[in-house]
Amino acid sequence: MKILKFGGTSVGSAASIKAVLSIVKKSYNSGEQPLVVLSAMSGVTNLLCKMAIDASEGKSFQEDLALIETKHFDVIKALIVVRHQNPVFTKLKLFFNEIEELLQGIYALRELSEQSKDLIVSYGERCSTFMVSKISEQDLEASLFVDASHYIKTDSHFGHAHVNDQLTEQLVKSLYLTNNDKLMFVTGFIASNENGRMTTLGRGGSDYTAAIFGSILNATAIEIWTDVNGMLTADPRIVKKAFSLPVLSYTEAMELSYFGAKVIYPPTMIPAFLKKIPIVIRNTFEPDFAGTFIQFESGKTTLPIKGISSIGEISVINLSGSGMIGKSGFSGRLFTLLAREQINVVLITQSSSEHSITFAVNPEDALRAKSLIENEFELEIQANKLINPEIENDLSVLAIVGENMKKTPGMSGRLFSSLGRNGINVRAIAQGSSEYNISVIISKNDLSKALNAVHDAFFAELKKTLYVFNLGTGNIGSTLFKQLESQYDFLLSKNDLEIKVVGISNSKKMLFNLDGIDLANWDSELLEQGEDADLAVFVERMKGFNLPNCVFIDNTASRLPSSYYEGIFQSNISIVTCNKIANSGKYEQYKTLRETAHKHGVDFFYETNVGAGLPIVRVLKDLMLSGDRIVKIEAILSGTISYIFNNFKDEASFYDVVKQAQALGYTEPDPRDDLGGVDFMRKMLILARDAGYPIEAEDVNLGAILPESCLKADSVESFYEELKSENSYFEALKEKARLENKVIRYIGKLEDGIVSISVQIVDDKHPFYALSGSDNIISFTTERYKERPLVVKGPGAGAEVTAAGVFADLVNVGA
Ligand code: ADP
Ligand code: ASP
Ligand code: MG
Repeated sequence: MKILKFGGTSVGSAASIKAVLSIVKKSYNSGEQPLVVLSAMSGVTNLLCKMAIDASEGKSFQEDLALIETKHFDVIKALIVVRHQNPVFTKLKLFFNEIEELLQGIYALRELSEQSKDLIVSYGERCSTFMVSKISEQDLEASLFVDASHYIKTDSHFGHAHVNDQLTEQLVKSLYLTNNDKLMFVTGFIASNENGRMTTLGRGGSDYTAAIFGSILNATAIEIWTDVNGMLTADPRIVKKAFSLPVLSYTEAMELSYFGAKVIYPPTMIPAFLKKIPIVIRNTFEPDFAGTFIQFESGKTTLPIKGISSIGEISVINLSGSGMIGKSGFSGRLFTLLAREQINVVLITQSSSEHSITFAVNPEDALRAKSLIENEFELEIQANKLINPEIENDLSVLAIVGENMKKTPGMSGRLFSSLGRNGINVRAIAQGSSEYNISVIISKNDLSKALNAVHDAFFAELKKTLYVFNLGTGNIGSTLFKQLESQYDFLLSKNDLEIKVVGISNSKKMLFNLDGIDLANWDSELLEQGEDADLAVFVERMKGFNLPNCVFIDNTASRLPSSYYEGIFQSNISIVTCNKIANSGKYEQYKTLRETAHKHGVDFFYETNVGAGLPIVRVLKDLMLSGDRIVKIEAILSGTISYIFNNFKDEASFYDVVKQAQALGYTEPDPRDDLGGVDFMRKMLILARDAGYPIEAEDVNLGAILPESCLKADSVESFYEELKSENSYFEALKEKARLENKVIRYIGKLEDGIVSISVQIVDDKHPFYALSGSDNIISFTTERYKERPLVVKGPGAGAEVTAAGVFADLVNVGA
């Protein structure tokens, strides 16, 4: 069996509950025997706490209570069929009435105990879990609501109760015995003491509930489903570059979460650790993503540390006095006192002279700690052996964590130099004896900057490995592999960049190898070891591997891959492509792709969409970024058509030239794909969009090269026949050009947001007159390049140059 725990954000709305239930159903139907643990709907626990405090202060709580009611009722209306809604409304209404009565009592007494607070917040989990179990029941009859407070037994430390393991084990086992054919939906976070009084396991404690059930029932895994892609290298709300960690040891996860990585509640690790049950942190909203696997070993990695976490607000208490500190027994007395009074000491440091000791506590405990110390050491203070404790506020803790640290010298040096370089003052340092973490205390104002600086210091300077998944092994794909293979050593030694192709697929076979596929033998390996190709599976597996610096290359010309782009960006994977389909489809799609890539901090490069290896997209982007304004773009962007018109002179007929172009491999199998201008149109469309115009393909004025009859011919052969019979049409064009001393060109133009492509006859003053062979040319007339436009010219087709363009894009990923 398996535990699936869903946090508040996962059950926060009707839409997310739908996502939750589809994950549950998939697991249930595949025979994994899931047991589901749920949190309160997001925000509800906080609101319940606030209402309790408000009531005790004589403030009104009715509005908040109505808010909670509506939040639940909206979900019921959306997800339960009308004829089954009533009993669910009734039960929840009963819960809400109970909350109201309790709050009224608190209001009347103006008194709030930790015990009443636990009772009030417990309704959050009871409401959400009951409701979700009822929604599920419509589809899976076995669904059963379980109130865990009857099964998890604790002491009476309200707000933060300690579990009675033996009693809990008995109760949970018997619950399971009688219901193992059921799909149980269990409330997280709540428990009860020996008298049956409601207790809670500490904020974030639903994770812990999951681990308790998992360990008693010997689950194969404890899955913590939340709203991010697992445990990240830092808090993603502060460090944008944070990335998801594939593997962590229990200790590492514990240290990271203890120092603030809220994604999992620290005590959760203990029951799992004792039974060696893996914990997997996964994203409800990206269920294909593998997430973070927490296990016994730290896992092989090149990362010097696993992550950086922080506690946003702490207070520090300094004690000093030559007569006291350092004497045996002093720290013992001090910390026993604090422990007895349930003051959690986050971190301790002691100066080497041992005349002072500094420790960090939660701000709300600081004053109490100070007065406790003053009482306990009253005599010592009077005798001047100890100076009155001082409190410093508005501080934060930053910690770097990882098991590798102890093997790698220079970690603290790197930490402090990055803080120093960024002008961040370190107030105190603590290194745990385990060497799994180094923590520093800094000013709260510096925290965000410090986290980002330290993240860069540890993760950005690494030799970067790009993990590449390549789709398409035709001309361009196979040429790219050749180029990658021959450049491997150079890139590694000169650019600290390693490019590993770890997945290859064509339309028949696909192959994965996380150590890197041997590019000298990729074709035979693909043939012999490859499995049957399936694009959906290819993409899903790529996401599931959860690799850093991951790039998907689409080297196909097919339509299908583009429908996966958005999901790929959502999994923080960059895309490099020579395929024009995605960028030249609907404008809405063009826009969404850029927004999604931007949001997830990944790259979308497609230089080869427009002029193979020629730098056109990049030049346009640089012009725009530097604030220049595009006045006009003129271009010949079809190598095939260039070749045809360049050779259509003297004795050669149009038919002859097209035949010859095809024989040389310059055309598509059906030459009309080139001569029809659609490919050219797509390139102009992409340029126009990149220049800032939200236009659609239909907006392009596409002038024809071929007469109707040739376009209509129903096969390639009859197309050639039509070319012959239309000979006089083409000859007239050729003759006109000859008489006027001009040449024929097929030219695209963007001006004032309007794109047109047409056959033109140009004289020797035109910059496109002298174009030779199959070259492309593009001229940018801009505010700055007004008198003499900026011209880019060169070979615009061919596998070698296109693959080189893809290569150049690849090297720039993440740069
Ligand atoms: P849930 O409601 O699913 O229990 P929580 O809000 O308790 O979710 O925890 C998830 C949140 O933890 C994320 O949305 C993220 O903002 C925050 N977080 C802080 N540090 C980290 C980290 N290092 N890795 C992942 N998430 C983190
Ligand atoms: N609902 C509780 C809280 O917000 C428990 C949890 O979500 O894990 O703290
Ligand atoms: Mg949580």
